[in-house]
Amino acid sequence: MTNFPSKRKSSGIKQWDHVYTSSVQNAPSHHWLKIFGAGALKGMVVTLKNFVTSYFRKPDQGGIFTVQYPEERYPEIENYRNLPFLVYDGSPDKVRCVACGICERECPPKCIYITMETDVAGKPVRKPAVFDIDYAVCMNCGICEEVCPFDSIFMDHVFEIASPRRIDTGMIRHQEDLLKSSEYLQKIRPKTATMIDEKKRAAEEKKKAVVKPPQGPTV
Ligand code: SF4
Ligand code: SF4
Repeated sequence: MTNFPSKRKSSGIKQWDHVYTSSVQNAPSHHWLKIFGAGALKGMVVTLKNFVTSYFRKPDQGGIFTVQYPEERYPEIENYRNLPFLVYDGSPDKVRCVACGICERECPPKCIYITMETDVAGKPVRKPAVFDIDYAVCMNCGICEEVCPFDSIFMDHVFEIASPRRIDTGMIRHQEDLLKSSEYLQKIRPKTATMIDEKKRAAEEKKKAVVKPPQGPTV
């Protein structure tokens, strides 16, 4: 093995260059094969092996996982989240949201805008008159879903939302664009939707089970 000088001399890097170049020139050929050739070859063999075997393995076994999008799509996992939508039960006028404004307050980039509905007398009604989300600003954090106490807003699986415009039909989504049925939620998030339905059913049964105290005989 070539011995390099242990200390850098005052003549600087140039001297090192000279020592290094001469040691390369004088070294036996198998020495450089060992340093550069064998290691590089070994690496290439590993790469080639992985490249070839990946074609014969399934994606979950370390095989190739590239899908020919858009013809092919990789199955989405239930908890995949992209952008929020609002849930209604039965028909779009039965939106679960009560316009409490919690999600609007907690949204980090402040991309939710809500105003509450009012009746003819100007009294607030527990539903949104306006519910807008700026999809161009949303950072997909899912906090709105987490903080909603009425299970009204959920993260969607839809990701093909590209638009040439930011406003109008572009990236700002209004209430009518955001509304999706509870059946849709069941389809994309079966575990979550089932858990919510069970919770609601249990609450209703509890309410029914509250027996009114028996009325005593009137005197
Ligand atoms: S996902 Fe996050 S950023 Fe997007 S609307 Fe909900 S809270 Fe706001
Ligand atoms: S989506 Fe939920 S948190 Fe947001 S305003 Fe409606 S009920 Fe409140």
